[in-house]
Amino acid sequence: MKALYSDADLKNALQHFASVVGGDWLFSGPDDIATYTDAYSPFALEPDLQLLPAAAIAPITVEQVQQIVRIANRYKIPLYPISTGRNLGYGGAGPTMRGTVMLDLKRMNRILEVNEKEAYALVEPGVSFFDLYHHLRDHKIPLLVSTPEPGWGSPIGNALDHGIGGIAGDNFAQIHGLEVVLPNGELLRTGSGASRNSYLWQNYRYGFGPHIDGIFSQSNFGIVTKAGFWLQRAIGVQQSFMVTSFKSEDLSRMTDALQLLRSQDLIRQFGCGSPIRGANSTVDGHISQHIPEVSTLLKRQDGGSFEEWDALGKRVNVPVSIAFADMRGPKTIIDAALQIARDLFAGIEGAQFNAAVPVTLPADPAEINDENKGNVGIPQLWGFNRLTLQGTSRGHYYLSPLCKPNAADLFALNDTIRRVILDAGDMPMLEHYGWQPGLGAYPKALMILMDFLVYDDAKLNQRRRELFRRIATACAAHGWTEYRTPAAFQSEVMDLYSFNNHALRRFLETLKDAIDPNGILAPGKAGIWPKSQRSTNT
Ligand code: ADP
Repeated sequence: MKALYSDADLKNALQHFASVVGGDWLFSGPDDIATYTDAYSPFALEPDLQLLPAAAIAPITVEQVQQIVRIANRYKIPLYPISTGRNLGYGGAGPTMRGTVMLDLKRMNRILEVNEKEAYALVEPGVSFFDLYHHLRDHKIPLLVSTPEPGWGSPIGNALDHGIGGIAGDNFAQIHGLEVVLPNGELLRTGSGASRNSYLWQNYRYGFGPHIDGIFSQSNFGIVTKAGFWLQRAIGVQQSFMVTSFKSEDLSRMTDALQLLRSQDLIRQFGCGSPIRGANSTVDGHISQHIPEVSTLLKRQDGGSFEEWDALGKRVNVPVSIAFADMRGPKTIIDAALQIARDLFAGIEGAQFNAAVPVTLPADPAEINDENKGNVGIPQLWGFNRLTLQGTSRGHYYLSPLCKPNAADLFALNDTIRRVILDAGDMPMLEHYGWQPGLGAYPKALMILMDFLVYDDAKLNQRRRELFRRIATACAAHGWTEYRTPAAFQSEVMDLYSFNNHALRRFLETLKDAIDPNGILAPGKAGIWPKSQRSTNT
């Protein structure tokens, strides 16, 4: 990696930055800088590899952001924007390149508008899910915010990294209208916001011409300073259900049923899996059931037949197949939708349908279990409790491939991952991973979340990073691609999107060079490197 700037240039730039934001909002001491790294870094204990920034600055206005960008261009100092920097598991508050100056937007935390009738909010990057939730609650506005778990991040940061929320699933799909400071310091509004009177900015996102919001997500093409975020109605009930069976072959019909319901918009988030196969897994803090036969079958080259798993499930009374989903809307409609779901699953002999007690919206936090709060739009931090169960204080990072929403692909994906781990001879990882359910945050795809724990053991962490790369490559060979990845792996994951000799990456590089010729914005984000850095990083 080539250095972009000299010490003298950095010093001068920092002085100029301080004159813009005030000395109190420029951070360059080692203790301050340490907070702008990935708290869950895969490089823990390897200081040379740690993606350490040079400093951080926290502007409070759009004009300050523009001035900072112009100074950064003058001295060719790379900036890395974060909103609240809570992207744990996917890079946290750290940059994608050492020596970057963090542009921390947490002070830009105004909720500029909440439109109750049209169900949207216009927010700045530093507004967190908690902020928005409390604002809605305090003002008795019956709207829900699609918060992820944990809820201390921001709608803008989460959506820009294609994050997922419990209410809407795909949070980037909730973005309607962006305001962006471009790498040359110019201010742009997208979609209808580009008209002289941006009266429909949050209502009609396409405006006229190419719809470019997407190029500001998982990218390094601009600094988002405002965004419209659609909210959902807190009307009627939230209703969950779960279907279980003791037969492996039922999973196929169960996933087909979920797809039928989802494609009619009768269910929202959904998922499916095989609890017996994952019974010993500790991924995401589940308590392992320690059923020895589960480990024996998973460690066998063929992974066990349907008959063997079904017999084991019956014997230890753990379901073999499971499907779950939630519905939300007016009570009469949800009652009818639930009946349709019940009838559909009744066609699968031996499948047991269990409906949860419906939750009246907006939900009262005192009446909802912590683990269910995200599903009804209540942000919380409870998820961290689960991590402590896993026996490391260094956190985890995710490998998260997507497959088609059917049981055959879910089995094949799990089996591919299992075999790579087996070939690597990493039995503790096989135990930890087990067999993971597919999560349907996107309507027509399933995602597996595989967490890699970080330990006080540099050698083991290195081996696990190598395992991550091998699994990601094996998955990509089947078209099971990552939807998001930590900073440490972004160049490698982009490399796997290789159709037509990496036409996508070449196009993104062309764009990068055109709009950011000095390469000052988030070099390396999503594997997009500026020209000056390319030969050494890709
Ligand atoms: P969260 O708000 O959920 O804490 P982060 O602030 O960590 O999320 O943002 C996640 C990633 O999204 C960052 O690493 C950065 O690449 C990108 N990002 C976040 N905020 C902005 C922004 N305002 N403009 C451009 N990119 C951003």
